[in-house]
Amino acid sequence: MIPISKPLIGKEEKAAVRKVLDSGIIASGPLVKEFERRFAAYQGVKNAVAAANGTCAIHTALYSLGIGQGDGVITTPFTFFATASSIVHAGAAPVFVDIEKEDFNISPEAVEDALKKDKKRKIKAVIVVHLYGQMCDMDAIMKIARRYGVKVIEDAAQAHGAVYKGKKAGQIGDAGTFSMYATKNMTSAEGGMVLFNKEGPAKTARVFINHGMTAAYHHAHMGYNYRTTDIEAAIGLEQLKKLDGFNKKRRENSAFLTGLLSGCGIIESPKEINGRTHIFHQYTIRVKNGERDGLLKHLNSEGIGAKVFYPVPLHKQPVFRKFPGSSAKLPESESAAKEVISLPVHPGLKKSEIQKIADAVKKYTGRR
Ligand SMILES: *Cc1c(COP(=O)(O)O)cnc(C)c1O
Repeated sequence: MIPISKPLIGKEEKAAVRKVLDSGIIASGPLVKEFERRFAAYQGVKNAVAAANGTCAIHTALYSLGIGQGDGVITTPFTFFATASSIVHAGAAPVFVDIEKEDFNISPEAVEDALKKDKKRKIKAVIVVHLYGQMCDMDAIMKIARRYGVKVIEDAAQAHGAVYKGKKAGQIGDAGTFSMYATKNMTSAEGGMVLFNKEGPAKTARVFINHGMTAAYHHAHMGYNYRTTDIEAAIGLEQLKKLDGFNKKRRENSAFLTGLLSGCGIIESPKEINGRTHIFHQYTIRVKNGERDGLLKHLNSEGIGAKVFYPVPLHKQPVFRKFPGSSAKLPESESAAKEVISLPVHPGLKKSEIQKIADAVKKYTGRR
């Protein structure tokens, strides 16, 4: 099977972990601090707070920006569960709006519509997701958010190193959150990061992830244990050095695959929009004519680990049913959920494997 993702752990990560294990400081220590500094510098943001995973990073961002009980938070239903579950964990209510056909990302017009309709001004924030590694239309999002006075959180769990008009993911909004899970563009096994341009919310975040402690055993916030460890930071620091190389390889693999797939009638390859650098966390095609499930089954039977991200949009998930707006018709999200397939392009793949993926796709589409 050619897997959809594969962590690339080299001798550098192994040596770094061994050093931590030998040091005696294995929980949160100096390497977590260094990982925060280096990740913030890489992303071009002043403040970074490391967290246990990408999900609690979003929860931490919401809390630190003052979003909680009684507030509404606009987001996309076409994302991983954690984007919206963290809104609920923060005590707020998700408001799902539709996506763009072109890039699968949240639609700025739909965000504006939701804010216009929100006469009681309950909505306090928008969480955008840079899905599959291509950033949202951030100029449009920020303009609308500033006009309505709502905060913007970038869920950049799939966008380490992605660029929009010269700015990296996590740099533009009020907060940017990242995941270092094993399948992401860089990993520390589990792990997360929250970025803030402003000092204030970063200070709150640092306290929130450590039981809300402002001084030893003095708890000013109802915080959590959302800390990460020096073991994970050691892996993350090595992965960060390799990130640009990984992303370059993903882009090369994607371009090669797009070339091989051109002319497959029922398939639309992903588009990179002008002014954006797509880092292809996923290479996601659209399959027309109701052939998605057929192609998926065929690819899996040919040993290609193709997958669907995501088959059920969140507004259709029973756990979100009680939130207003979850009964809304969101046609672009619903058709994307029926049409997408992600094909492997991770940096561990050889050209011959990309060729094999394209051949398997063509074997199916050629019969159509
Ligand atoms: C992976 C992911 C998360 C959650 O990150 P974890 O580290 O797994 O908790 C959140 N949002 C998106 C879009 C993701 O892809």
